[in-house]
Amino acid sequence: MDWLNLKAALLAEGRVKIAGLPPGAFLASSTAGPGAGGKGSVFFSVEGRRVRLAVDPDASLVLIHEGKGNAAIPFRGGMVRGVLEVPAFHCPRQAYITLSEDCIFSCRYCAVPGSGGRTKTAAEVAAMVRSALNRIDAVSITSGVAGSVEEEERRALDVVRALTPFGLPIGVSIYPTRNTPRLLWEAGAVEVKFNIEAATPGLFAEVCPGLDRALLWEVLGASVRLFGKNHVQSNVIVGLGESDDEMEETIGRLCRMGVIPVLRPLTPSAGLSRSRRPTASRLLGLHAVAAREMAAAGLDAKRALTMCAACTGCDLIPGRD
Ligand code: SF4
Repeated sequence: MDWLNLKAALLAEGRVKIAGLPPGAFLASSTAGPGAGGKGSVFFSVEGRRVRLAVDPDASLVLIHEGKGNAAIPFRGGMVRGVLEVPAFHCPRQAYITLSEDCIFSCRYCAVPGSGGRTKTAAEVAAMVRSALNRIDAVSITSGVAGSVEEEERRALDVVRALTPFGLPIGVSIYPTRNTPRLLWEAGAVEVKFNIEAATPGLFAEVCPGLDRALLWEVLGASVRLFGKNHVQSNVIVGLGESDDEMEETIGRLCRMGVIPVLRPLTPSAGLSRSRRPTASRLLGLHAVAAREMAAAGLDAKRALTMCAACTGCDLIPGRD
C-alpha cells in the first residue's frame, strides 16, 4: 500500500493502542487541536512522512513500540514499519504553543472551552522556545480566546515580539480582529492560519456560535496580500455534515485566494463526540480535489514553514504526503 492510501486509512481510524514498550518521550500531549486534553498522541513516521495518532487503549489499531522509537503497525495482513518521532512542543520539529487554554467561545468540536486552563506569559513562551532550540525549525502560536478577542490579539503580538530574536519562522493561528494580519506582520510573524472551520455558512453557525465567518474570509484575503501565497493556511473540518460539492467549493475558494486548505478529519470529541470520522476514501477524494485546486492556483505546501501545513501530522497535505 502506498503512503497516501496508508495515511488516509490511518487517519480514518485516528486512534491507536500502544503495545510493546511504553512510548515515554515519544508521547505528545496537546492543549489545543485534535486530541486536546486526551491521553496524548504519537507521531508515526515512514521514510520522513508522518501521521499523528491519538493514543487510546480502546482503539482497534495497534502500534507496537519495539524500543528506541522503532515501531510497527499490523495492518491489513501486513506489518507497516516506521519510527516514532519525539515531539518538541505539541509536534515534531516545532514549538507549537497554546497561549490561553481557555475560551469565551464554545465551538462544538473543541475541548478547550471550560477546560479552565491558564494563560502563558510571553516570558514563559520564550523560555519554552529556548529550551527546545536544538530540536525545532519553527515556532507556532495558537490560543483560545481568554477575556476578549482584542486581549488575546495583544497577547499574541507580545509573544511574537518576544520570539523574533530567536530567528526562527513564527506562525500564528488565533481568532482575529480585522487588524490581526497587519499587526502580526508588523510584529514579525511570517505565516498565519485563520480557520474557516466549516464548508458552509450554515454549518459554521451551528458549530461555531458567535464567530464571524465573513470576517475570517476578509482576514484571509488581507493575509495573503501581506504574507504571500503559501504562507496563509486555513483549516476546514471534514465530517461536519457537508457534501463533497460544498467542500469542493470551499477548497476552490481558498486556493483561488492563495490560501492553503488544511482538510482536517473530524475528531469526535466535546459536543460532537457522537459524530464519526470521515472514511479513508472520502479523505482521498478530497485530497485529490485539494491537490488539483492548489496546482491550478500555483500553491505549494512544501513552502509553508510553520503550523499544520509544515507538520502534516493530522491531515493529507498535497505536495508533502
Ligand atoms: S497537523 Fe497541526 S494540529 Fe496536527 S499535530 Fe501537526 S501542528 Fe498539531
